[in-house]
Amino acid sequence: MTPFRTTALISLCACTLALSAAPANQNTSDSTQDIDHSIKPGDDFYRYANGGWLRTAVIPAGQTSYDTRSILVARTSRRVRDLVQEAAAAHSAKGSVGQKVGDYYSSFMDESTIEARGMTVLADEMAVISAIHSKQSLSAYLGSTLNSETDGLTSNADHVFGVWVNQSFTDSQRCVFHILQGGLGMPDRDDYLDQSAKMTAMRAQYQSHIAVMLKLAGIDDAETRAARILTLEVQIAQGHAPDADASDVFKQNNPWKRAAFAVQAPGMDWDAYFKAAGVAEQPEFIVWQPSAVTGTAALVGSESVDLWKDYLRFHLIEHYASVLPKAVAAEHFAFYGTTMSGMQQAPDRSQDAIAATNAALGQAVGQLYTQRYFLPEAKARAQAMVRDLIEAYRVRIPSLTWMSPQTKEKALAKLAELRIGVGYPDRWIDYSTLEVGRGDAFGNMRRAEAFNRWRNLTKLTQPADPGEWRIDPQIVGAVIVFTPHTETFSAGLLQPPFFDSKGDAASNYGSAGAGIAHEISHSFDELGNIYDAQGRLGNWWTTEDLAKYHAAAEKLVAQFNGYCPFSDICVNGKQVLTENIADLAGLLTAHDAYLLSLKGKPDVVIDGLTGEQRFFLAFAQRWRKAQSEATLRRQIKSDTHSPGEYRSDSVRNADAWYKAYDVMPGDKLYLMPEDRVGIW
Ligand SMILES: [Zn+2]
Repeated sequence: MTPFRTTALISLCACTLALSAAPANQNTSDSTQDIDHSIKPGDDFYRYANGGWLRTAVIPAGQTSYDTRSILVARTSRRVRDLVQEAAAAHSAKGSVGQKVGDYYSSFMDESTIEARGMTVLADEMAVISAIHSKQSLSAYLGSTLNSETDGLTSNADHVFGVWVNQSFTDSQRCVFHILQGGLGMPDRDDYLDQSAKMTAMRAQYQSHIAVMLKLAGIDDAETRAARILTLEVQIAQGHAPDADASDVFKQNNPWKRAAFAVQAPGMDWDAYFKAAGVAEQPEFIVWQPSAVTGTAALVGSESVDLWKDYLRFHLIEHYASVLPKAVAAEHFAFYGTTMSGMQQAPDRSQDAIAATNAALGQAVGQLYTQRYFLPEAKARAQAMVRDLIEAYRVRIPSLTWMSPQTKEKALAKLAELRIGVGYPDRWIDYSTLEVGRGDAFGNMRRAEAFNRWRNLTKLTQPADPGEWRIDPQIVGAVIVFTPHTETFSAGLLQPPFFDSKGDAASNYGSAGAGIAHEISHSFDELGNIYDAQGRLGNWWTTEDLAKYHAAAEKLVAQFNGYCPFSDICVNGKQVLTENIADLAGLLTAHDAYLLSLKGKPDVVIDGLTGEQRFFLAFAQRWRKAQSEATLRRQIKSDTHSPGEYRSDSVRNADAWYKAYDVMPGDKLYLMPEDRVGIW
């Protein structure tokens, strides 16, 4: 998923994911051996901290960069693979998490059974589609396929509509039914509407792909049907909101009463639709992209039932391609993998099987992962660090120079409501009612989908749960959810060298601590300004706060404008400003938190480095990255994050860094005290 940071309900921030790196052949990092002692810290702190590592780091073949994130992802993928395969070999007790994970994987891998069952697994569902004979039965069928595997980041649900059950934009106490656009086989609207030669050719290939899929299911006259299906999808796409609108939360907040659908979106039999979807009693819905609901409903009314049936048959095959015979899975890859994404070779079946197991049983795999790699002691240590970070913000906020007293009160109230999850959830999803068996890849996938839908719809009748996790523990990542007001840092992310549960506190606070504090700042910056303490929409800064904030940021814009890695290209300080402010907030707050963790005692010296030195060293090592010149140039042009070297140079604004490394006037990175920036 792409980082999605404009005004979306969920924001994934790539920043925490760009961590420090260790040599690929090592599991733990020895931070001191990566130092280049020939460089003076005050002249080039990034190369002082990382020189040894940068000299030996090799960008893997086929990739354009190499950093800790790549190392963590590779390491975690290996661990997850081993755990899932061990579960498959273990034949654990029926009903246990291990049994479900193992059987899901092993069924997916059992290609001979999949081949032997052929397309017959689809027969029942195909019969239901064939029985559609009216707009009413068509509407009911569409309701029954409503996709619940969506969230605030979905731009095109994998069925005609998607549902995300989450708290409303105005009421944090209860969950409502958010309806998201969907129904397109290609990823988004522009794929259908872009008139360039390239996209026109792509659509022709998509049409051929539809025809092949229909033929594989034994459907006659496939070419004619494929052309008509594509035409229908183009019409569906015309109703979809453009990307910028689709992700603009102020345009998403459209509450519709149940009765309004028939009036505002005629064509669909909404009674039949909502009854089949299991939400006939729901009084209100939040329609994220009204034009898509109106447009698709009109097409249900205007297009023939037979055309819709062809469309539904094709999408049924496509949806289950991964658990259908080889020829179907191969055709699916030929279009989505090769034609659309340029991949020459399909990944190994085992990789797909692990991804499918994670998708169906994410928190079951997460339990196996954390039982081995992220124990309660690790969670407790990370939680203690988070408490220090929150306390550091609580102390910092009252002394901000640009924020008015009444806004500070609101910020402190919002801070008190912030929930931060680390490692794994306090309460796991209960999979006891999900049946998973061997030799039934298709059935397992169907039951997992039904289970997820049931679980999601159940939330409509319960109070909203801000403790729910939206990311699996075995993912290397973090997620900010603004509604409700939560941030989550997974066990996959919280591992060395970013965070070492048995390691040095100074390094942990300088690396993971600064990363988490960076993310916390987003809840209070311009982005977080549009959500209140409970995650409801509404600005809480005054216009004067905003003006003063922008004025305070000017110095930071100028500082980064001065970074020019090549004679013809410099960093654009405005483009990267929001992230630089967050980096600086993260660094300064994590430093305060580190001091809090010492509880007034002096830190020890390790490998000749004081705690203060190790804190800043870990911060700089977090940003190391080997990348090609072309990649670096592209990053400077388009990324909202500065190159790692300059993110590391945020230390120039921290008084404590000068003291820790004895940085003096005349050193290249030296800034006069009045030129140092402090916004948070
Ligand atoms: Zn960020």
